Amino acid sequence: MTSPRILLAAYNLHPKKQLGQHFLSDPSTAKMIATLSGITSEDVVLEIGAGLGALTIPAAKTARKLYAIEKDRRLIDLLKTEILANRLSNVELMEEDILKFDIKKLAENTGQKILIIGNLPYNISSQIIIRLIKFRSVVIRAVFMFQKELARRITAQPGCKDYGRLTVMLGYCTKIKKLADIKAHQFFPKPKVDSEVLEIKFLETIKYPANDEALLFRVIKGAFCQRRKTLKNALAGSELNIDAKTAQNMLDKADIDSSLRAEALTISQFVTLSNVLKLHVAS
Ligand code: SAH
Repeated sequence: MTSPRILLAAYNLHPKKQLGQHFLSDPSTAKMIATLSGITSEDVVLEIGAGLGALTIPAAKTARKLYAIEKDRRLIDLLKTEILANRLSNVELMEEDILKFDIKKLAENTGQKILIIGNLPYNISSQIIIRLIKFRSVVIRAVFMFQKELARRITAQPGCKDYGRLTVMLGYCTKIKKLADIKAHQFFPKPKVDSEVLEIKFLETIKYPANDEALLFRVIKGAFCQRRKTLKNALAGSELNIDAKTAQNMLDKADIDSSLRAEALTISQFVTLSNVLKLHVAS
């Protein structure tokens, strides 16, 4: 693997900040991440943000098939050359935006569930996760690199400041495992913070299933969108379109203190609240 600095210079390219471009520059780290992903020769892998191919190449060496998505048109030819140079015939490169890409269709076309990997563009990591949760019925698991700040939010416990919308949505339907710490100096250009590799496994059986999952996710979003307010006021001021009296009523029925803030609620309390709200909407 040629170093990203040299490769980019050879093509007269500069990293784009708005695309969250921080390329892995240590081939042994890239290989380690590919190994930790647990890819087998049966797997169809989707890589988000292939960049210069640091993960693409080692991952494709074990996968049955690898679909690599990259939004930056400038990198496509370069990537094609890297793939050819490594004599890989099982890689399909797609110039696409992951936030618009239909993962379900890909799974249908390949006839099997997909393993997703990526050193995610940090500026859209949260949006990617929310999208992934929607598509989770066709996903085996995801192995992603996140900047520390987001990794902390994903794995936070109730009551702390990092606990938020993503924590609760993921806590509802996934099991998270930390696989590795990656230092900032292993990227080019060097980001401000270190990163973590997390494995996100989607649960076959949800412990406290909501009667209406879409409503649950709206309640979570509403509760956290003004997270400094009490639950009653946050819910009343949210997209849920309920007034303060109804919010109080719902919280009473769910046996939740309305003066608490969203960060104090456990996942099962969010589920109860959304189930109560569901009954209210239906009646
Ligand atoms: N996997 C490479 C690059 C990681 S940087 C490595 O580890 O070295 C993140 C990559 O995601 C960049 O190449 C960036 O261009 C790409 N990217 C950014 N936004 C994207 C989007 N919406 N859809 C697909 N790729 C995107």
